[in-house]
Amino acid sequence: MRNYLLRIAGGFLLVIVAIWILWPRAETVELDVTRAVNPAWFIEENLIEPVRKEVRKLSDGSQAECYVITTKTTPFEHEIGPWAPGHVNDGKDKGGIWFKDGHVYDLDGQFIADLDEFYDDPEWDMVRPDGSIQVTDTREAFELAARPNVDPRYYNHVVECPAEVDEWKNDHKVYVIPVSPLYRTIPTQLGRTAVGLAFNGVTFDPPAPIHAILHAHTIAPFDHGGGHVNPHVGYHYHAATGKTKEIEQADQHAPQIGYALDGFALYAHLDKNGEAPEQLDECSGHYDDQRGYHYHVSAPGDNQIIKRFRGIPGTMTIVAQPDQ
Ligand SMILES: [Zn+2]
Ligand SMILES: [Zn+2]
Repeated sequence: MRNYLLRIAGGFLLVIVAIWILWPRAETVELDVTRAVNPAWFIEENLIEPVRKEVRKLSDGSQAECYVITTKTTPFEHEIGPWAPGHVNDGKDKGGIWFKDGHVYDLDGQFIADLDEFYDDPEWDMVRPDGSIQVTDTREAFELAARPNVDPRYYNHVVECPAEVDEWKNDHKVYVIPVSPLYRTIPTQLGRTAVGLAFNGVTFDPPAPIHAILHAHTIAPFDHGGGHVNPHVGYHYHAATGKTKEIEQADQHAPQIGYALDGFALYAHLDKNGEAPEQLDECSGHYDDQRGYHYHVSAPGDNQIIKRFRGIPGTMTIVAQPDQ
């Protein structure tokens, strides 16, 4: 009996060792051109303190020379909102945008009233008899609706951050990104928080959980900058719509709009001729000898900034500030 158990244990160990040996490991590829992060491009008015260079831990536990970028949470270049039209007669100036199947839709009151046709589902019903639209206009409503498991009391609401929820505006965001990005043979999946940041310090987030949002017959509109507010992370972008600082390129290439958390640069979707980027890899990136490896963000309606990290991502931490 004992012999038998030992043999099973030995076999088990052998399998573990074999898996360990055969498991593919990410390796770093040396590229001819690698562009280091340029800290001077972050908008000074939105930096809480000057960008620092320090050896820090990346998300995989490895150490690297990093930039520590501490920013405000609201954009410098544009106002935030509007998101939800409040009445069925409200025009497009009172609403933000919504995504479906790669398209961007401008929201007005009638759009909200017609959601049953838009989604071919009669359960959509957000307009009250007096023409007003059900919007999460209290702290409680917002907190119970702006989450994946929407409280049933707030089904059929437009989810938007009410004015009374504003403490997130005092938070600081601390980004740690490697000074020189490393091209890895195996990509890293996006995390739950930041994918990267715009030059104004606002976070580019992973895709919004649109399936869960629609399941509750809610929508959580983005403003025309592609952003909205969530009670935990504050204002963040799910799309790049051209409202933030851009670094123009000398050639026809799309402008740079920020950095991913792994230190590779983020460029807009379209180039100067309005053409979409070609031959992007599984991470939404490609290489050229001007820019080295870099990403192109997806079109706004795609609800996706980039698909995966090509390098090793750093970190983003939200630091709450005491009441002022
Ligand atoms: Zn979001
Ligand atoms: Zn490119």
